Amino acid sequence: MIKSSKISAAFLCLMICSLCIAAGFFFKPLFILAGIALAGYLWIDKQYLRCPHCGGFENLERLFYAKHHTYHCRHCGKIIKIETN
Ligand SMILES: [Zn+2]
Repeated sequence: MIKSSKISAAFLCLMICSLCIAAGFFFKPLFILAGIALAGYLWIDKQYLRCPHCGGFENLERLFYAKHHTYHCRHCGKIIKIETN
């Protein structure tokens, strides 16, 4: 079971990362923050956002879709459930 809150956290990290890259052109140290946010995203992704059955990678866009639809893993074909609470 993939937690909905982890998807939101990963999404937030990506948002921070892209914002810091954009702002980094004006204020260089923000590139460091962008790197940290990206590392955070990758970590959450690796730890929590894999298919619970086969460990296959799913991208965020598909996981957002899976929240409201029945979604089958691209790798093993089993249904991936998203826990929303
Ligand atoms: Zn799978």
